Amino acid sequence: MKKSSGIGSLKGIGEKTENLFHRIGIWEIDDLIRYYPRGFEIFEDPVPVSEAEEGKVCTLAGTVFGRISVSAGKRLQVTTLHLKDLTGTIKVIWFRMPFLRNTLAKGGVLILRGRIVRRKDGLVMEHPEIYYPAVKYEEKRNTMQPVYPLTAGLTNNAVIRAVKQALGHIGANDDILPGELAHSHGFLPYAEAVYKMHFPGNRDEFIHARTRFAYEEFLVFILALRRMKESENRAENPFTIEEREEISRFLGKLPYELTGAQKKVWNEIRSDMEGMHVMSRLVQGDVGSGKTVIALLALMLAGLNGYQGALMAPTEVLARQHYDNITEMMEKYGIPLRTELLTGSMTAKQKREARERIASGFSSIIVGTHALIQDKVVYHDLALVVTDEQHRFGVRQREALAGKGHTPHILVMSATPIPRTLAIILYGDLDISVIDELPKNRLPIKNCVVGTDYRGKAYRFIQNQVTSGRQCYVICPMVEESDSLEAENVTDYAQMLSGELGDNITVRYLHGKMKQQEKDEIMDAFGRNEIQVLVSTTVIEVGIDVPNATVIMIENAERFGLAQLHQLRGRVGRGTHQSYCIFMTASKSDETKERLEILSHSNDGFFIAGEDLRLRGPGDLFGIRQSGILDFKIADVFQDASLLQAASEDASRILAEDPELSSPIHSGLRRRIDEKVKEYMPETTI
Ligand code: ADP
Ligand code: MG
Repeated sequence: MKKSSGIGSLKGIGEKTENLFHRIGIWEIDDLIRYYPRGFEIFEDPVPVSEAEEGKVCTLAGTVFGRISVSAGKRLQVTTLHLKDLTGTIKVIWFRMPFLRNTLAKGGVLILRGRIVRRKDGLVMEHPEIYYPAVKYEEKRNTMQPVYPLTAGLTNNAVIRAVKQALGHIGANDDILPGELAHSHGFLPYAEAVYKMHFPGNRDEFIHARTRFAYEEFLVFILALRRMKESENRAENPFTIEEREEISRFLGKLPYELTGAQKKVWNEIRSDMEGMHVMSRLVQGDVGSGKTVIALLALMLAGLNGYQGALMAPTEVLARQHYDNITEMMEKYGIPLRTELLTGSMTAKQKREARERIASGFSSIIVGTHALIQDKVVYHDLALVVTDEQHRFGVRQREALAGKGHTPHILVMSATPIPRTLAIILYGDLDISVIDELPKNRLPIKNCVVGTDYRGKAYRFIQNQVTSGRQCYVICPMVEESDSLEAENVTDYAQMLSGELGDNITVRYLHGKMKQQEKDEIMDAFGRNEIQVLVSTTVIEVGIDVPNATVIMIENAERFGLAQLHQLRGRVGRGTHQSYCIFMTASKSDETKERLEILSHSNDGFFIAGEDLRLRGPGDLFGIRQSGILDFKIADVFQDASLLQAASEDASRILAEDPELSSPIHSGLRRRIDEKVKEYMPETTI
């Protein structure tokens, strides 16, 4: 059997299962080999009942205390028992398993493994796995079971079985790292490393294996990037762009003065656009530092000089928001530039008409999503491309959009606070500007980290804020298992909250599975304060700007990375009212508290990301990724900063010795890089 054959050739994968695998992007055996777990279940030693911790999966050993009861609920039959050990007892429940009453009634020690939750009558272990008699746990004890991202109908066990088979098909050619290089970094041999990515014996083995692939990912990325940049020397500036007095008039009329940092960055951009060469500039600025107005100034400068400027946003909601704001400002401040919106969810007719106005040069400032880089879009005279929140975009989109004009000026806006040295590696030849100052008129956000017993108070607080005219976000508990569960969760939560807050407060929800039009309507209504409380998944994370919103309450805060929490928090504190951020956590552990407290004490994204890493230390690699920068699957720019540095140095050395990567020891690397370049620059979009 050939390795690159479809997964249908594996044992136990029929047509139906094969289709399920296709849904999660697995077509070939190779895909399966690289389908790494998103976490592990660790079968730890049992803990005493008295140490069972709310919100965590625990293993408990004990005997049944008292009788086992089965209640006939309306929909669910619930089996209840009390488990007792030397330290105490805890209630345990199962759903739809009435037969347990007989099975477990025989006495003796049993081991239960499941999540501990808080219910009205105290801590309860919910629907645990049963090891009875207790010796059955022995074979699992201290092993790690991979947990894979799934889709409805596909079980974790099915993936485990398939991966195990796939691992038997690893070939010698799959190793892309030259042996010497792998050796010099002390990486595991390829086949062993792959195996341990899926089935490590312990944490350390996993970390060891993961290091290799994080490094590989960086190395391939950097080499691909340099390959793409090779031909592209800084082109001469083909546009005649001059200072326009409309811009100073616009600045004079704005309700605020630009901060010193904004002025500095704007000057850098302006002199680039007026200069000899085409601009390629990254603007880094923490959330709320005021990047949008900078982007707008650049778009206006292009427009007022008779060219077009495009602004590409990562979500439709954000694109719409930018479009509305810019359109309003152009009118309000009397700037004679026509704006255009182009997003995927517009009707075919709307899109066609928008494209016509873009092609004829009728519209000057074009705002949109990925739709801006589709084949059908032809620009009249595109001189500037701004991508907002670049970390949500790949290099590919940036390059593809650049391919639309005659080497337009490129401006990339990012809120991800990465150190300059790393930014230089990741963004290749971009010049870097930093907005390192927040507008002065802001009241600092008040933060608190609270336990779930505070929830009632938090709801009252939200009620009060709404009564005094403000609005609130609630970020819903995370659901790891699947998107559809998450949607359900948001819906239920919103309903519950609406009941809590009463009829005078309009509560609505937002999640990723909703239709775009629905999302837009909800966001618009929230923007107009027709909705006071918005329950949402993290879809509102980037960019959204509703200055009247003053509270954000984040459920399950412990499950987010601090950098992400910082972004979420950035949704409030944008206006003149005092704002509040409530981090809700069920976790009682000091570690979690300490981690979240960092956010209470700092509003500096860069500092926060660094502290987060320091606290969690290098052992915590199953944890939360800090950044989704540039779609790295395994590597994380923050956590693996030193690997990124090493990969960059190695890339330089490799290219110095073998610029074309034509040596046989580089053939694997070269193959992977070619794939990557193709992925970044598909011919169709250029
Ligand atoms: P981000 O950098 O996160 O994209 P925005 O550009 O959305 O931030 O700006 C956040 C808010 O701050 C907006 O409501 C904007 O109007 C306002 N703002 C921007 N610059 C200033 C300034 N210099 N002074 C006061 N408010 C400002
Ligand atoms: Mg922004």
